[in-house]
Amino acid sequence: MVDVYIGVGSNLGDRLSNCKKAIKELSRNALKILKVSTVYESKPWGVTEQPAFLNLVVYGQTKLTPYELLGRLKGIESTLGREETYRWGPRVIDLDILFYGDQIINGKELIVPHPYLTERIFVLKPLSEIAPELRHPLTGKTVLEYLNDVEKENQDELKPLKEGL
Ligand code: AMP
Repeated sequence: MVDVYIGVGSNLGDRLSNCKKAIKELSRNALKILKVSTVYESKPWGVTEQPAFLNLVVYGQTKLTPYELLGRLKGIESTLGREETYRWGPRVIDLDILFYGDQIINGKELIVPHPYLTERIFVLKPLSEIAPELRHPLTGKTVLEYLNDVEKENQDELKPLKEGL
């Protein structure tokens, strides 16, 4: 079994319900879930006319290979997407592999650790609740160290949701 961290995001439809469904599907199809972070609401990056995102991080263990896991995540995304909308647009659900053990993967289809995780407060904040001392296998820096760096600039762009999962 390998320790994995999955980023979950939604900015379309019933966002909290989408996140709940994704967690249920993850535990059915992909991993044994051991921890779920607080849910945060975050302003969208770049394209500001998009609705705000809900983001959280799940920690679990899996027997799947990285590419098998990616395939399951895509399957869950399309299952939930089809339920909610046919329209191309903001994401009903977005699932990312943040860490897969301490493996480093640089494929066409899959890059692990996730390339943007060190810059995104909406990933680092929930991840830091679950695994503050987890070290990035390429840099040796901890999640908390990355969070401290980005928090200086992004303090008001993230707020915890009152209702949890
Ligand atoms: P996005 O639209 O940002 O969710 O990107 C989805 C695509 O990113 C997928 O088709 C994956 O093949 C690719 N991808 C690369 N690295 C990762 C990762 N660590 N987790 C999830 N998807 C990834």
